[in-house]
Amino acid sequence: MHEMSIAMAVIGQVEEAAERAGDVTAVCSVRLQVGELAGVVPEALSFCFELACAGTVLEGAELITETVPGRARCAPCAQEWAVGVPPLLSCPQCDGGRTDLLSGRELQIVGVRWEDGRTPAPVPEPIPEEC
Ligand SMILES: [Zn+2]
Repeated sequence: MHEMSIAMAVIGQVEEAAERAGDVTAVCSVRLQVGELAGVVPEALSFCFELACAGTVLEGAELITETVPGRARCAPCAQEWAVGVPPLLSCPQCDGGRTDLLSGRELQIVGVRWEDGRTPAPVPEPIPEEC
């Protein structure tokens, strides 16, 4: 259960952040960037996330996954391409040299929305100009 350990790690990080922020009462959603090559099945991750959230401050939170397409660049000829799945890691132009993976292995929280019990700050009234 690869996805379960990722879900637990995500929840741990959000819990920690919520603790630091103070009176967080509920987490609404967690936005996660998942690289195409990270080897994660988003549906499985959502399922595990929902299970693992039970009893935490994240209970009922929505997991939003953003897929990051994998891109690679050839070091000798600077050609860039979308690696796809399964990944094509040899340069389509010169078929040689060294390949740098530019993106596709991401697995990170990019945003969390929560309720913290504080009422939103009132919009200040414009100060009337003195005549
Ligand atoms: Zn090349």
